[in-house]
Amino acid sequence: MINSKLPGIGQSIFAVMTKMANDFSAINLSQGFPDFNCDEQLIELVRKYALQGFNQYAPMPGVLKLREAISQKTKRFYGFTADPDKHITVAAGATQALFTAITAIVERGDEVIIFEPAYDSYLPAILLSGGIPVPIELNENDFSYDWDLVKSKINSRTKLIIVNSPHNPSGYMFTENDMAQLCEIAENNDLLFISDEVYEHITFDGRKHLSFLSYPQLSAKSMVISSFGKTYHTTGWKMGYVIANEILTAEFRKVHQFNVFAVNTPIQYAYADFLADDIHPNALPGFYEKKRNYFIDELKGSAFDLTPASGTYFQLLDYTKIIKKDDFLFAETLVKDGGVSVIPLSPFYSQKGKSRYIRICFAKTEKILKTAAEKLREYSLKR
Ligand code: PMP
Ligand code: GLN
Repeated sequence: MINSKLPGIGQSIFAVMTKMANDFSAINLSQGFPDFNCDEQLIELVRKYALQGFNQYAPMPGVLKLREAISQKTKRFYGFTADPDKHITVAAGATQALFTAITAIVERGDEVIIFEPAYDSYLPAILLSGGIPVPIELNENDFSYDWDLVKSKINSRTKLIIVNSPHNPSGYMFTENDMAQLCEIAENNDLLFISDEVYEHITFDGRKHLSFLSYPQLSAKSMVISSFGKTYHTTGWKMGYVIANEILTAEFRKVHQFNVFAVNTPIQYAYADFLADDIHPNALPGFYEKKRNYFIDELKGSAFDLTPASGTYFQLLDYTKIIKKDDFLFAETLVKDGGVSVIPLSPFYSQKGKSRYIRICFAKTEKILKTAAEKLREYSLKR
């Protein structure tokens, strides 16, 4: 017999809702991934390196050329100098990076502050390391942070704070005041941070992403995680990276080498070339802002309430005017009767019954966004 190490945890909501979308032939606005292809040149580069024979194990921390390219990009965007040898490790996507980082840092009995709604992979990783999650809820209207509350939760057992900006699922982005509060916390407490910055380049309305790497007080105590999947429309390639100081990187790599050892070689070489200029990341805000606005326009006249997301490719919809129902049940009936699959927010909370929102992903073609918005509008008015 086996004793479950994660007794309270079921299948990830992303797997559940994508399966439902397929089972009921619904439009899949649930799991976050683009329905359009990545740049052909990137595919050509992967092909080129695979044909040239770059098909065996990469070095454990990542292909040096790619770590150098990441270092230069990080310098250009955030003014941070990362040594490719000592500070950068390439991972099999942000999920693996997060799991490895949490495993490297958290010891039994350590408290870990997370902010809810929280991306679903943080909590199980903390539990598997014997850590004690300390969930703090974001303001339910605008998803802002109550820093006095955060400070009141910090004690001698607090080992780690995990943050995510731009935030999945709310789209909230850290402000200068948030960063000042975080710096103060870093200066006054003996703890570490994981900063999940996978949506660093998907920001709207002129807002700029504020990275932990731009603040010396924070970068000194953090593992900063990003993912190429979000920036280059390649979620299926599962590749990301971690930037941290020498001591944290060494501990990260101790776990990484037995967790995955190294990641896909030809794809690393391809990204190394592709990262040389910033054309693609610089185009993303405009590209996705257009999609966000298009979807919101198409949804006009529906009974959903919304505040446009500031970042990420997700939009929350408040459904309380439509029906008083648990959000999972609402998502379930919506996929079956309304023809659109969405993500209910309750799996992002440790206490049930907390959410009045569903999340949609607008990384889709306008044709799909139009049809989906029509279906959502009709469904919302029929109820
Ligand atoms: N963190 C957040 C906030 C995410 O939304 C995601 C995936 N959408 C990840 C981490 C995982 O990224 P990856 O697909 O690179 O594992
Ligand atoms: N991060 C993606 C989302 O939020 C899904 C990733 C996954 O399926 N694990 O939708």
